Amino acid sequence: MTGFASGEARSRDSAKAATVAPALLAWYDRHARALPWRIGPAERAAGRRPDPYRVWLSEIMLQQTTTAAVAPYFQTFVERWPTLGDLAAAPLDAVLGAWAGLGYYARARNLHACARAVEDEHDGRFPDTEAALAALPGIGPYPAAAVAAIAFDRPAAPVDGNVERVVARLFDVEVPLPGAKPELRRLAADLAPRRRPGDFAQAMMDLGATVCLPRRPRCEACPVAERCAARAAGRAGELPRRAPKKQRPTRRGVAFWTLDAEGAVLLRRRAESGLLGGMMEVPGTEWRAEPWAADEASAQAPVRADWTPLPGLVRHTFTHFHLELSVWAGQASAPDRADGRWVALDALGTQALPSVMRKVIRHALKQRAALS
Ligand code: SF4
Repeated sequence: MTGFASGEARSRDSAKAATVAPALLAWYDRHARALPWRIGPAERAAGRRPDPYRVWLSEIMLQQTTTAAVAPYFQTFVERWPTLGDLAAAPLDAVLGAWAGLGYYARARNLHACARAVEDEHDGRFPDTEAALAALPGIGPYPAAAVAAIAFDRPAAPVDGNVERVVARLFDVEVPLPGAKPELRRLAADLAPRRRPGDFAQAMMDLGATVCLPRRPRCEACPVAERCAARAAGRAGELPRRAPKKQRPTRRGVAFWTLDAEGAVLLRRRAESGLLGGMMEVPGTEWRAEPWAADEASAQAPVRADWTPLPGLVRHTFTHFHLELSVWAGQASAPDRADGRWVALDALGTQALPSVMRKVIRHALKQRAALS
C-alpha cells in the first residue's frame, strides 16, 4: 500500500488484521514487559484486571515521556497516594511538587482535577467506557482508549507513536505523518480483537517499544513478520514517513535571581492557565522573540535592585519553541514589597519548580559562586 486504502484493499487489510492478534497475543504471553503499573503473568492468567487507578496514573504520566523516566515518579505517587481517594484529597501544590521534573505540567493539574471529578461525580470509581473516560479532565483519546482497554478489557485501540509505527509498517502506509493519522487509527481499530483487547493493546505497545524499533526494527524477532507488508517491500526502517517539521522559533527572556538579607530567594507562582500553569518560577520578563534591552527588562523586575547580568544563558526547549534566558542577580532592598514567596536555598527542592526553573537556579548558583 502506498496511499490511503481503496475498498478492495480495506477488505484485504481486515482479513490480515484477523490473523495478527492471535500471533501477537501468543508472543505477549511469553515476552510482556514487567512494568510497575502492570500485573504479572500469573495474575493475568487468573483473569485479574489491573487497578484502574494505577493504569490511569501510568498512562497520563507516559504521554510524551519514556517508561524509564516515568517509573520512579509512578512509584513515588503510589507510595504517597495509594488510592484515587488519597490523590483527590491531596493539596494541588503537593501533587505539582511531586510531578516537578516530569514536564508537561498541565498533566499534573488535570490529574488532580480528574481524581476529584471521579471522587465527586463517579463515587470514586472510574467509568469503564472509552467515551465516559474521555469526558473526564485531562483524559484525551489516547489515555481514554488505553484505560478502557487495559483496565476494563474494552475493545478499544490506543494509538501512540509506537503503535503508529507498527501499524504503518504492517500495512506499508507510505503517507507521511501527521496526515496518515486517521488511516493508522482505522487500521489499528481493525486489528483490535474482541478477545483480550487489553492484552492486545499492551502487546502492540511492547512490540513497538522492544522489537519494531524506530530505525532498526528487529524483524527477525517479530511475531508478525510474515504478515508485515513493509518488511516484504524492504522498507520497514523507512516507515512511518514524516512531513518536514517546522522550525521551532526562539524566545528570549530575563530571569531575576533576587535574594533578601538572609539569602532567601524570591519565587512566584505562574498563572493557573497556560504554559507551566500553577508552577513556581524565578520571577522574570515575558518570553518573546526580540532580545531585551537593559532598561526594558529592569522595568519588569520584581523589586528595585542593582542588577548584575550573570554570564551565559539558560537554554530550554519546549514543544513549540526554544527558550533563552539571561539571569540577572540582585539584592532586594525592600523585600516586604516583593510580590511572591521568599524561599531559603535549602528549601528550594520542596518547591513545584519545572525543569527550566531548576536550570535557572543551577545557573545562578554556579555563576554567583564563580563571581564571588
Ligand atoms: Fe516491525 Fe519488522 Fe515486525 Fe514489520 S516485521 S512489524 S517492521 S518488527
